[in-house]
Amino acid sequence: MSKIVYCDKCLKEIRIRGDLVTTTMFFQVVPYHEDCYAKDLKGAKTFFLSNQPINGFSGNFLSFLAILICISTFFINDETMIYLFFFTLFPIIYRLYSYFIYERHLEK
Ligand SMILES: [Zn+2]
Repeated sequence: MSKIVYCDKCLKEIRIRGDLVTTTMFFQVVPYHEDCYAKDLKGAKTFFLSNQPINGFSGNFLSFLAILICISTFFINDETMIYLFFFTLFPIIYRLYSYFIYERHLEK
């Protein structure tokens, strides 16, 4: 079941979960080493690369907030809530995708 995760920049294997940064580029989830992510953010890809990592503390916090907002849209009877619902659905899907595709396969 184990899968090898390769960094999108240096194309080397990412072994430890703490070294993995997943983020989005053109709506795709891409894995990086922490250092490589920092380099690419400053480099030419900076316009395409999301500043917000999906994993890690800030990513977890944001997806937690998104889940709360997503659930609360069910209780607010307003038609604008459908947009908010889909808006918060994306970070949740990205978070799950990142976990199942990449993080799950790495050592803690
Ligand atoms: Zn790398």
